[in-house]
Amino acid sequence: MNTLASFAANPAQSKGRQFNEPASAPRNAFQRDRDRIIHSTAFRRLEYKTQVFVNHEGDLFRTRLTHSLEVAQLARGIARSLHLHEDLTEAIALAHDLGHTPFGHAGQDALNACMKNHGGFEHNLQSLRVVEKLEQRYAEFDGLNLTFEAREGILKHCSKVNAKQLGDVGQRFLNKTSPSLEAQLTNFADEIAYNNHDVDDGLRSGLISIEQLSEVEIFASNLTLVTKQYPHLEQKRLVPETIRRMINTLVLDLCQQSIENIKQQQPKTIDDIRQLPPLIAFSEEVATQNHKLKQFLRKNLYHHYQVNRMSAKATRIVQELFQCFYDNTGLLPDEFQMYAKSDKARAVSDYIAGMTDRFAIREYRRLFSVEEHW
Ligand code: MG
Repeated sequence: MNTLASFAANPAQSKGRQFNEPASAPRNAFQRDRDRIIHSTAFRRLEYKTQVFVNHEGDLFRTRLTHSLEVAQLARGIARSLHLHEDLTEAIALAHDLGHTPFGHAGQDALNACMKNHGGFEHNLQSLRVVEKLEQRYAEFDGLNLTFEAREGILKHCSKVNAKQLGDVGQRFLNKTSPSLEAQLTNFADEIAYNNHDVDDGLRSGLISIEQLSEVEIFASNLTLVTKQYPHLEQKRLVPETIRRMINTLVLDLCQQSIENIKQQQPKTIDDIRQLPPLIAFSEEVATQNHKLKQFLRKNLYHHYQVNRMSAKATRIVQELFQCFYDNTGLLPDEFQMYAKSDKARAVSDYIAGMTDRFAIREYRRLFSVEEHW
């Protein structure tokens, strides 16, 4: 860890945990947050949750676990070059997807639709619920009792209605202030990670091709650099060589532009950061290139007919599980039956959101197939 900027998040000046606890030397408060996240049940489940490709489609694709590790790696690098707190960015990165449902976006949209009349479902908010409530491993409190700064970073977005009920971490969505730079940069690390690994997984799956991607400027320009230097490179090496240059382009630009923004605004403390507009940003040119890459992926990969088919199945599984449990809470495991007595819809939603892809499929079979038992 190198010198911290005066406006970085500082564990010695943390706004603290929800429940007071003695410090745990030699770890600082943010390291302790990270360690608690790694030891959580929800973290282990990330191994069997996916974003674009469902778990059984192949062993070579990213899962939410490997995605989270890639985000943490990028976030730490960016934090170090901006003199921000690496441990905090790592904690936020490792926790940012804890609240995801099985089956990626299709699963989350389906659950949100099921919860329409019961407060909805947002995965960011669910990640916060996991670390504040759903993890049950400590004697004295529910959740992981993370610092304010970690929880603030985990709650990326939030509707105003929900923000009102969240206390300290909801405030910034109501008074329109900014989160720490560590939180801001982790969002960008998330985006850089998934855009690039989706290109990689997309190519490996054969759903998109190098020819198609050559319409996208940031891919094409970096591909040209590689082919100029290595004219006869096989695809197996050509793709990762191109992707690492794309990641580098994005990370370098993000660091340069953010340093420039910081220089202009001259923040002195983290309180200044909270009052200023977000300072972590791409340059305009790279933001446009990045946006085009996202558009390409949305059109050609996320809405590829083969992905649509899997998404349609995922939607059906989540909808039918929800309806089945909602109509008969006696089918839920005991602890969720108890919980359902006070809030039926939320209990069903939490149970489903916690499932991995393979567990959801297995549960679906147990409930709907006469050949499967309990
Ligand atoms: Mg993510």
